[in-house]
Amino acid sequence: MIHAPRTLTRFLIEEQRRHPSASGNLTAIINDVRLACKRIATLIGKGALDDALGKSGSVNVQGEEQIKLDVMANDIFLRTTEWGGQLAGMVSEEMAEPYVVPDPYPRGKYLLVFDPLDGSSNVDVNLAVGSIFSVLRCPDGVSEPSERDFLQPGTAQVCAGYAIYGPSTMLVLTTGRGVHGFTLDREIGEFMLTHPDLRIPPSTSEFAINASNQRHWETAIKRYVSECQQGASGPRGRDFNMRWIASLVAEAHRILIRGGVFMYPRDRKDLTRSGRLRLLYEANPIGFIVEQAGGRASTGRERVLDIVPESLHQRIGFVFGAREEVERIERYHREHNDFEYDAPLFGSRSLFRDPAA
Ligand code: MN
Ligand code: MN
Repeated sequence: MIHAPRTLTRFLIEEQRRHPSASGNLTAIINDVRLACKRIATLIGKGALDDALGKSGSVNVQGEEQIKLDVMANDIFLRTTEWGGQLAGMVSEEMAEPYVVPDPYPRGKYLLVFDPLDGSSNVDVNLAVGSIFSVLRCPDGVSEPSERDFLQPGTAQVCAGYAIYGPSTMLVLTTGRGVHGFTLDREIGEFMLTHPDLRIPPSTSEFAINASNQRHWETAIKRYVSECQQGASGPRGRDFNMRWIASLVAEAHRILIRGGVFMYPRDRKDLTRSGRLRLLYEANPIGFIVEQAGGRASTGRERVLDIVPESLHQRIGFVFGAREEVERIERYHREHNDFEYDAPLFGSRSLFRDPAA
């Protein structure tokens, strides 16, 4: 008995049929992103065989040392998606300025933002890494998008997703109707729908945080983690497990598959920045996916998707996953507001703005 295949192509066409007015632009963009992810998966799969590992000798706009694969994955994203006529411009972790789709390609009505290789420090040790992407509408009348055209809140995202390059390669995406996971069948080269309608349970006994930053944490986070660590004899009345992979995609994927809560909160380590992860191409797409799976995505204080970005590479505190746990962490922040800067009089937004912005 031969069944009709549940491929990503079929999924996209069926989604498109639900919207008779759809132009097919979004389908075409996701098709190209899918190909970019397959190319990156192949590249990463070569490991040390292809001389792709190691440092590139350059630093990106955030002052982070790039590895060769950061640069190659960025080029793969650009070259694989720029030609189709659906995109007007792109923003990436690896580029200081917006990339405007060059001649002779036509410019379209959408913008693409991405982190071409997330968790790239995991490459050398052969652990899971990923790619993150988000699609926004290009504002009406704009054909050469500049920085301000990209500064849209996460609620404006049309589509978001990530690829995870682990023992298997998966593409997980949302177009605003749930979250669906596809596994790459390497023999036929297609992503197959293997994880329809992923849901994050509202509670959990698993948390993820970089505990080496403990001395920098705010009181609210110290209290939350301490209560988890006290286990069955503490105020939570049950034992918790801790996880830490140091790759946002891998953390998000684990939470989508088996639940949990992730924290990379704002802390006192560097008061000039309001977190570690980037709003536009990390927290927003992951936040959109998490919300579509029934979870919550927060700065620790407010919903991430409501924040209007102030700059392309803005950083943000990021807490996401099981809804009840994230709400508890938000409550602790209200009860222990130990950043005096948070008082409206002091204008936290300007104090915490990235000085480079
Ligand atoms: Mn990243
Ligand atoms: Mn990256």
